[in-house]
Amino acid sequence: MEILIYVYLFIVGACFGSFYNVVGLRITEGKSIVRPGSCCPKCGHEIKGWELIPIFSYFLLGGKCRMCKTRISTKYMIFELVTALLFVYSYLMLGLSMELIVALLVVSLFVIISVSDLEYMIIEDIILVIFLVLLVMSRLFIDLPPNFTTFSLHPILESLIGGIFGFGLLYWIGFIGQIVYNKEVMGGGDIKLYGILGIVLGFKLTLLSLFLASLLGSFVGLVFIKTKVIKKDTPVPFGPFICLASLISYFYGPELISWYFNLLV
Ligand SMILES: [Zn+2]
Repeated sequence: MEILIYVYLFIVGACFGSFYNVVGLRITEGKSIVRPGSCCPKCGHEIKGWELIPIFSYFLLGGKCRMCKTRISTKYMIFELVTALLFVYSYLMLGLSMELIVALLVVSLFVIISVSDLEYMIIEDIILVIFLVLLVMSRLFIDLPPNFTTFSLHPILESLIGGIFGFGLLYWIGFIGQIVYNKEVMGGGDIKLYGILGIVLGFKLTLLSLFLASLLGSFVGLVFIKTKVIKKDTPVPFGPFICLASLISYFYGPELISWYFNLLV
């Protein structure tokens, strides 16, 4: 029975992942997410029926357009696969619980953001607003898990503090950066995103997520510069690092923090 839930979540995740590709790209391009249907960018062949099955179609078609044989980018398939795996992983970590709803929403937000941030280095406001509403509503009914809390206050207050802290801290970093470097060091999308994350994660896990995101971002950036994948002054989208760091924080944050404090004593 259990295996059926995993299979189901994998398929649902792959389908949502396919939809999130469309949302992440088309909203940023200012296009409708329903019309026209997907078509080959080269020959305009309209992709229909069995060619639209997430993940599998990519392999069935051998990664090429059926008509003109132009290579299809692997990134769509990778995002479908990542969404499917994260849906399954969320269930593995949380089981059939109310918190699973929050986890699936967070995963969805992260996939859409990563798609548009990697392609266009933009996180669209409309996407953030939709998920702000959805996640605020969920945190009103689904309490912040007890091990996420910091101040032993009511869960809703803990979420509120997290949200204000996340938004405020990044806004402050951006403000100081603007004065010191006289340029935008923090994208507006990243600042708003941390406001939403604060509500989901609470104070301490938001702080952990920011720490991990900076660590991951600088590490990967440094490796890319050293291996000459990018130049020293190439801007790197920060969104995907925030997403990865926040997932680690969400699933393992309380353990990581208690492990760290055990090292100190
Ligand atoms: Zn084609």
